[in-house]
Amino acid sequence: MSDETLQSFADMVAASRKIVVFTGAGISTESGIPDFRSPGGLWEKNRPIDFSEFISSPEARRESWRRKFAMDSVMATAKPNAGHRAISDLYRRGKLKAVITQNIDGLHQASGIPEDDVIEIHGNTTYAKCLDCHARMELAAVREIFIPDGTLPECAHCGGLIKTATISFGQAMPEAEMRRATEAAFDCDLFISIGSSLVVYPAAELPLIARQRGADLVILNREPTPLDHHATLVLNREIGETLSVVTGA
Ligand code: NAD
Ligand code: ZN
Repeated sequence: MSDETLQSFADMVAASRKIVVFTGAGISTESGIPDFRSPGGLWEKNRPIDFSEFISSPEARRESWRRKFAMDSVMATAKPNAGHRAISDLYRRGKLKAVITQNIDGLHQASGIPEDDVIEIHGNTTYAKCLDCHARMELAAVREIFIPDGTLPECAHCGGLIKTATISFGQAMPEAEMRRATEAAFDCDLFISIGSSLVVYPAAELPLIARQRGADLVILNREPTPLDHHATLVLNREIGETLSVVTGA
């Protein structure tokens, strides 16, 4: 290992027993899923539709289903990459307590980490839910109603609005997942933030919680983040290659 920071990172991983990994969209770009804030990312093409807009505007709901089904072909063929695999390798070696992810693509689970140890704080895009009674609705059923002529799905039980089970800007965070994520951040010896711009709150509070409790904080991201000055170590490098070298995977 040539670089000093890489060696320090590898040493910290080797010395830790309770690692928490926190991932953002950046870990999945090498699997072909665009992130939000990189050049060419989703943000440039589609401004996010926030929760209040989804609720108040049928056209916003239609646009959000159009985007969802357009993105599905990319998501369905995406496979875990070297970064996901290096993390699942740490898990198998018993060094990892949990993965907290802002992603909704399911690639950590696909890389072999059991569902129970992947905490999805921004939800999941593989099914839909009623916003009123929370009844689950499968995407195949939504697709059948929506695709032919843009008819919006309604809850079969209460007539409520149906939305993918993801958390939009302006929507309340899932309580149980946030509690588990906070507990994990409270009780780790090394917190590694990977591929997140760390500007979306309350998610970006988690690295700070870990740091305040005395854990080391490593930030691995191509670009600087607003939390860099809190970190023990910052690596502005590519994720897959870096994690493969550091974990020896
Ligand atoms: P973000 O787009 O704000 O930040 C991603 C960061 O990753 C950027 O700073 C970028 O420089 C870095 N990055 C991208 N590819 C990289 C690589 N190969 N190596 C190193 N760094 C790389 O993403 P965020 O912080 O996760 O916040 C955006 C929100 O968007 C999240 O809440 C997430 O739920 C959602 N989102 C999820 C997906 C997904 O599930 N894959 C995709 C897009 C957006
Ligand atoms: Zn309902």
